[in-house]
Amino acid sequence: MKKITTVCPYCGAGCKMKLVVDNGKILRAEAADGATNQGELCLKGYYGWDFLNDTKLLTPRLTQPLIRREKGGKFEAVSWDEAIRYTAQRLKAIKQQHGARAIMHTGSSRGTGNETNYVMQKFARAVIGNNNVDCCARVCHGPSVAGLQATLGNGAMSNSIGDIENSKCLLIIGYNCADSHPIVARRVLKAKEKGAQIVVCDPRRIETARIADQHLQINNGCNMALVNAFGHVLIEENLYDRDYVAKYTEGFDAYRQQVADYAPETVEQLTGVSAQQIRQAMRTYASAPSATIMWGMGVTQFGQAVDVVKGLASLALLTGNLGRANVGVGPVRGQNNVQGACDMGVLPNEFPGYQSVTDPAVRAKFAAAWGIDAAGMDPDIGYRITEVPHLVHEGKVKAYYIMGEDPLQTEADLSLVRSAFDALEFIVVQDIFMTKTAEQADVILPSTSWGEHGGVFSCADRGFQRFEKAIEPQYNVKRDWEIISLLATELGYPMHYEDNQQIWDEMRELCPLFYGATYEKMGELGHIQWPCTTLDSPGTPYLYQGNQFTTPSGKGQLFATTWRAPAEVPDAAYPLVLCTVREVGHYSCRSMTGNCAALQTLADEPGFVQINPQDAAALGIGDQQLVWVASRRGKVISRANYNERINLGAVYMTYQWWIGACNELTQENLDPISKTPETKYCAVKLEAIGDQ
Ligand code: SF4
Repeated sequence: MKKITTVCPYCGAGCKMKLVVDNGKILRAEAADGATNQGELCLKGYYGWDFLNDTKLLTPRLTQPLIRREKGGKFEAVSWDEAIRYTAQRLKAIKQQHGARAIMHTGSSRGTGNETNYVMQKFARAVIGNNNVDCCARVCHGPSVAGLQATLGNGAMSNSIGDIENSKCLLIIGYNCADSHPIVARRVLKAKEKGAQIVVCDPRRIETARIADQHLQINNGCNMALVNAFGHVLIEENLYDRDYVAKYTEGFDAYRQQVADYAPETVEQLTGVSAQQIRQAMRTYASAPSATIMWGMGVTQFGQAVDVVKGLASLALLTGNLGRANVGVGPVRGQNNVQGACDMGVLPNEFPGYQSVTDPAVRAKFAAAWGIDAAGMDPDIGYRITEVPHLVHEGKVKAYYIMGEDPLQTEADLSLVRSAFDALEFIVVQDIFMTKTAEQADVILPSTSWGEHGGVFSCADRGFQRFEKAIEPQYNVKRDWEIISLLATELGYPMHYEDNQQIWDEMRELCPLFYGATYEKMGELGHIQWPCTTLDSPGTPYLYQGNQFTTPSGKGQLFATTWRAPAEVPDAAYPLVLCTVREVGHYSCRSMTGNCAALQTLADEPGFVQINPQDAAALGIGDQQLVWVASRRGKVISRANYNERINLGAVYMTYQWWIGACNELTQENLDPISKTPETKYCAVKLEAIGDQ
């Protein structure tokens, strides 16, 4: 029996754990004393590994390469040689006929690791010759990256997960940590125990709201108005830090003018929050000796998300809550390695280490290291995954190489996404399970799972952590980077790596931000937060020390703008707001957690739609009754779940259920900057099925 130290693959909290292994099977998971979890795990960490033992799989594991030679035909099992040769031939033909930009790639924010993401973006840029590589950050914290880069210079959490409990005020907006990051929720509880004031802004009375000192039960879809009103109060009541603003920020006059129209009294009706509550929230936030803002998808999955992130950063700038310990701005990244996928340049606008693809000097550096001609590199920003359906219908994208993502479950407006997949010439899926997306593939390249390989993840607070292989894979599968390397070589670009560390070291040499984060330094329980620029640096627990912002001018940029309504508001035909949320026992498209015996027992298909009993009674819907939920785009079966904590006029569903997938209902309304969809808001109606 042995114990392998690894990192939980299920959320950005980055909990360290030990997998207890005997005779090639995993027996149990134990919590390890990691920097973020300190010997604790949530139930996904404790029970989210048994799909590796193949005990109770609802979805078939991908066990060998498969090719479907004709659309609508059957999959045929083939050798790896044939799968690689066939895939390379098809990609080459599409590139020759339609140009490099006709091919789209995804990295993966899940269990595959940073090294693989580095290799995938290198494949797109050096082998195919475009910047069309993106990841699911686009549908979650893309607005946090764009908004924070614009205001502070850096798109990540400015502080550490460990710092949260030492902050004296937590302003939590659109973030249900109890369901999405239970171990981060423990830090919030600890902060409360240590005397912090907790202010929660959320339409639902979520778990954190129950322990909060103030709960601002905001109406769905009006974050910008509330954040502007916060800024208004800080200035009008002279609660802001004049010295700090004068020394370290720019744009104050324009900001003051913009928020002048957002007196709390004028937005009471729109936001559903009383002026008194808005004023009190800012008095609490501004007077705390240290204050931290935390947010999640309730901020970022709107058509006006980047603006709201900029507005939240501005609150921290106005009050001087940056550049020191226990303060800051915390977009808590969702998937376990979504921070890492961004760190590794699985973004259409940036190479690894947040280096711009439009900078000729950066392109020249990468071209020299990769042995290619810089003049042949794509100088333009590539496509985003949320643009793909439209680009396919416009004839611009013909092939899609998807690694460890399931867009046919996780993207907004699934009928639109499906129509695009039907129109694609060639789809390659590299994954571990036969997901809804894999079912549509022309080629399936089966890969090793978390537990069957090692590497480095980045957790939500910029911490690099190593995870180790626990068991040998049982099937005819390969590591993700090995598959990509075989394809690259077949396409005429020889790519050979010995191991993860060789890839990591190549990446470090090209990324000044990460150069000092060596494998040795990360060690078994290590947690090295970037920037880590030198070999003797221990990493950086908080950003902007000395209030040196990494914006072009070195100053923080204050920002406010006019609130915009969501794209589709309720009406007589579709009278309720649908908002997508998380379910504590499941993760992402559920391909991993949905195949774990203990987690399967938590809830059953067809999932549930949370509804206030008053709304349900008015519609004649009983608790646990089956219902149709319909929007202008589709209709799904679900189960009504009475919940007193839900605000009137809104219902809530997770996107994780395979039957009753609520993305059949959601709509796009992409944020104009980050291209993130508005999955937190669309109009629906509910109809009971049968008698109560
Ligand atoms: Fe920790 Fe997140 Fe895993 Fe839970 S799911 S154990 S909070 S990393």
